[in-house]
Amino acid sequence: MDDIIKISNINDFIFCPASIYFHNLYGNENKLMFQSKYQLNGTKAHETVDENKYSTKAEIITALDVYSEQYRIIGKIDIFDKKKKLLVERKKHIKEIYDGYIFQLYAQYYCMKEMGYEIYKLELRSVDDNKKYNVKLPEEDLEMNTKFENTINEIRKFDLEGYQQTNTLKCGNCIYEDACDRSLNRGE
Ligand code: SF4
Repeated sequence: MDDIIKISNINDFIFCPASIYFHNLYGNENKLMFQSKYQLNGTKAHETVDENKYSTKAEIITALDVYSEQYRIIGKIDIFDKKKKLLVERKKHIKEIYDGYIFQLYAQYYCMKEMGYEIYKLELRSVDDNKKYNVKLPEEDLEMNTKFENTINEIRKFDLEGYQQTNTLKCGNCIYEDACDRSLNRGE
């Protein structure tokens, strides 16, 4: 895998490493052609932000391109409130807080810190039901931070060639199932 990791790929990698290939192939826009479940819950909420419609308030930064030299990760943040020093990642619907959601926030956090921003709080927001979830900073949750660093290392070492998904349910919930020759539901 490329040395520089896209932040948006971290969540995909945890869901299924093979899905990164399709994510990169189809991108976010064409992805909406596919029937969605788990993965789209993590992406659709960004549309407003990506089009920069969220806010014109000076203290709110949206869709900022970010990069970390330390972790060699690149991406975009969702929302940063400069006054509250609050970094927010919105999801369409949060049913459960997956590690991948937290790792995306950590990745954005490290990038922004390197870029000189001070961040005091991290938050996940579920847009459909308007719920907010506080997430501890990486230095307040060392176990999670270690898991984050291990995941980044695993992504970097990952080799698609020999990979086989073992969880049928994941394939059943995957928006790329029709296109994926590794799907466990092939031939059913
Ligand atoms: S269909 Fe299965 S193996 Fe293929 S990307 Fe989706 S979850 Fe992974």
